[in-house]
Amino acid sequence: VSRSIIRRWKRNLINAPFYKNLLLTKQPFPVITKTEFMHHFDSINTVAITKKKAFEVSLKSEVSRDFSPSINGISVGLSTGTSGNRGIFLTNQREREMWVGMVLERVIGLSLHRRKVAFFLRANNNLYESIKSKLLQFHFFDIRTSITLHFEHLVALQADILVAQPSVILELSKEYKRTHTTPRFSKIISVAEVLEEDQKIYFKNFFNCPIDQVYQCTEGFLAHTCRLGNLHFNEDFLHIEKKYLDSQKKRFHPIITDYLRYTQPVVRYELNDIIHQGAACSCGLKSTVIAKIEGRLDDVFRFTKEHKEVIIYPDFLRRAVVTAAPHAYTYRVSQVSNSLIYFYLETEDESKKQESISLVTNALTELLHDYDLTDIQVTYNHYEHITATKFKRISNDYTSKIQN
Ligand SMILES: [Zn+2]
Repeated sequence: VSRSIIRRWKRNLINAPFYKNLLLTKQPFPVITKTEFMHHFDSINTVAITKKKAFEVSLKSEVSRDFSPSINGISVGLSTGTSGNRGIFLTNQREREMWVGMVLERVIGLSLHRRKVAFFLRANNNLYESIKSKLLQFHFFDIRTSITLHFEHLVALQADILVAQPSVILELSKEYKRTHTTPRFSKIISVAEVLEEDQKIYFKNFFNCPIDQVYQCTEGFLAHTCRLGNLHFNEDFLHIEKKYLDSQKKRFHPIITDYLRYTQPVVRYELNDIIHQGAACSCGLKSTVIAKIEGRLDDVFRFTKEHKEVIIYPDFLRRAVVTAAPHAYTYRVSQVSNSLIYFYLETEDESKKQESISLVTNALTELLHDYDLTDIQVTYNHYEHITATKFKRISNDYTSKIQN
């Protein structure tokens, strides 16, 4: 990050009461989590907006379905999340334009051809709806409406670029297959959910085009895919510290400082995403490569056995499923209680489903045995995904519920 960017950022940061004294006395900034970030909301933002006011405005707008709530020109965004744990984010017009501009440049890439972008998103995302560009024509599809209903319009549109979350891309692939239509995108950009390697390969083969990924959340635009297909942190405006989670230093939580956020500074903010670092990339970018986003800390399975906590990282559960049932193109494993795991899967070839179910039941049971967990039931259970929500393959529905 260049010095002039940092200087300008500090000149603004002094307007946040939470950081003012620390800056003046040259003390280090504390690492904060979402809980602290929300707790100190009133003194962290630089525009003197209270949390109470911000929540009032955003909740009112959900009821009236006016999806661009603002206070004196400052836009108020409510992040998804369980009710007790929702974050609230403030941005001004300039920050929003910069964000969108950067996403377009880094992800869609510049070209002199006029292109159409089909963008599947939740309608209440006021970040993108203001996009105007001479060369890119955006068409928005509200993912709360059934994909089947959108499909005809999508095909007629003949879009060049598709932007959607993996669970929506999968639904679209089913529609293409069902209707014997050939997709013709020049690029697909995966957003919102984690794109896993097996999904990436499946989509690449099915759609016959590159599949890029954007890693962003309300906390910031964190990473994008480079021309060689690797996911890089945007370290030209983000400072990333790593909090390692295991002694082998394989997994870490990123602690982010975003030098482009002015209205509500994001300073040493610890995300609970679990990241695996990748090897350096030869594309020319020096920034950290993300080998994999394993999930969030609250996706980790946690069992209590003889008063001790046994934890299983999402990756091990994924590997067990994928190895046992390579034909499963979508699946879900969830911890339901201290003694029950549900899983669900779909195979492209329906005739392989029953066999896959029994293989996965065995594989997960074996995995649990490796952890000395011998009295946990593994059961196949149908799962209906609601398109408008984020789909997670590995989900802890038990301890994450207790914590909220
Ligand atoms: Zn690269």
